[in-house]
Amino acid sequence: MSTFEEVFGTTPDGAWRAPGRVNLIGEHTDYNDGLVLPIALPNQISVTASAREDGIVAVSSNGQDAVVEFALDSLRPGSVTDWATYPAGMAWILRESGYPIGGANLFVDSDLPTGAGLSSSAALLCATGVALLGLRGIEVDPAEVARLAQKAENQYVGAPVGLMDQMASMCCTAGHALYFDIRAMSTTQIPFDPEADGLTLLVIDVKAPHRHVDGEYAARRKSCENAAELLGVPALRSIAFEELDAALAKLPEDVDRRRVRHVVTEIRRVEDAVALMHAGRLRDVGPLFTASHASLRDDFEITVPELDVAVDTALSAGALGARMTGGGFGGCIIALVETSEADKTFTAIEKAFADNGFRAPTSLAATPSAGASKLH
Ligand code: ADP
Ligand code: MG
Repeated sequence: MSTFEEVFGTTPDGAWRAPGRVNLIGEHTDYNDGLVLPIALPNQISVTASAREDGIVAVSSNGQDAVVEFALDSLRPGSVTDWATYPAGMAWILRESGYPIGGANLFVDSDLPTGAGLSSSAALLCATGVALLGLRGIEVDPAEVARLAQKAENQYVGAPVGLMDQMASMCCTAGHALYFDIRAMSTTQIPFDPEADGLTLLVIDVKAPHRHVDGEYAARRKSCENAAELLGVPALRSIAFEELDAALAKLPEDVDRRRVRHVVTEIRRVEDAVALMHAGRLRDVGPLFTASHASLRDDFEITVPELDVAVDTALSAGALGARMTGGGFGGCIIALVETSEADKTFTAIEKAFADNGFRAPTSLAATPSAGASKLH
């Protein structure tokens, strides 16, 4: 593996980092103006950087071979492709938004799995953003960097993502989950430190092959929008938990009823989880994870056998709760386990996967970590 000095023939001015994330609960409620509760992971992307005065940005990643170069002045959506789309998109949106960034050498390093639903894309955008701003001493509010990273992913990369991933990467703090109310656009830090209570939050990458995720995502979104229209509300967030039965009675299609039931009950589960965390009752959050998984499996229908087997096996091995996390159809599960049981739980999942002929899963311990920062 090469170093910054070997790749660019100069010494760096500094290094910045931005973490990946998992959402604890509140799945598929973001585009319904709902509530989400992510934590930042200890796994992150770092960008070591030096300023250059020729208006060129040169990027190198430990995951890729060649150095990619682009001129800031000629950036427009589509002008840079492959993985460098992300750093180029961030540079583009910063310039479009009037921030006086300049050329740079950027050396990307990562211990965050890519394409596993842990948001390496948002971490790469955010780490690039704080590096390009930091090199020029420009101070920007973390939530604003998150909004810019979302715009870069929407408008430059072309991925219709929401704002949760970028907000988690920028705004999370160690020992807390980030309660993000999408309708109010407000955030609150909620105490969540499982290790202090003898607990571990395991993240297990189930390595499921890609299964037409984009089309299914669009279909779920459309169902929710149709149901909201039928119910005469701007978004499903407007249906209170107490009004759920009355709302369901107004919907003629069973599939719409199940989609709505997931969203409304999931929003309630976020509120319940936050109340339990405030009360320091972390073990009682487990059953909410498990109920969330059942809802995503039976009502929202976005799980796959790998996710269901991982959750069921974690629960049989004694987990306090487990659920799929992320968009569905693959990605990761989270399991809240007694720390003394963590190894046993993962071993049980490895065995169940081998028995089912699935790919070997991997795991990491998700200590709630801090959002993006300067490393040195
Ligand atoms: P996720 O965000 O769930 O990890 P995405 O498909 O949204 O998955 O983003 C993954 C993409 O982000 C990769 O295909 C690659 O283009 C880019 N990426 C992530 N990490 C790195 C890295 N360390 N080096 C280069 N590109 C990266
Ligand atoms: Mg992503």
